[in-house]
Amino acid sequence: MPEPYWPKDRNAYTLRMAERNRTIVRVRCAYCKRVAYYHPVDLMEIWGDVEVDDLMHKMRCEAGKDHGNMDVRCISPSAEEMQGMKIRRLTGIVLTRRPVWSEKGSRGTGPPTPSPSIRSARSSRRETPSP
Ligand SMILES: [Zn+2]
Repeated sequence: MPEPYWPKDRNAYTLRMAERNRTIVRVRCAYCKRVAYYHPVDLMEIWGDVEVDDLMHKMRCEAGKDHGNMDVRCISPSAEEMQGMKIRRLTGIVLTRRPVWSEKGSRGTGPPTPSPSIRSARSSRRETPSP
């Protein structure tokens, strides 16, 4: 296994620095032990140049949203180790449309109202949300 790589000041270690150091981001679910590897540049595409430590709160396990925080580390695998690693690459980002409601005269958050999920502008035309 590649050795985990931690810089001296881990609080200031961002994805851009991880990319500059040619490290790979290893994300592991402590709950179900799933492991995935990412290029820092792909994660930057999603969250920007955030601190690597912040990813443990931002990323969620695909096997279950209730799996808690991820174990996120930067690793420097050797060329040999890289060959056996399946690194996930970002192929696209899907933007979902989410309705935001407000009612005249009401301030703050009221009781929860059903909000339909809208996949795209085209498919949502027929399912017009009722107020
Ligand atoms: Zn999990």
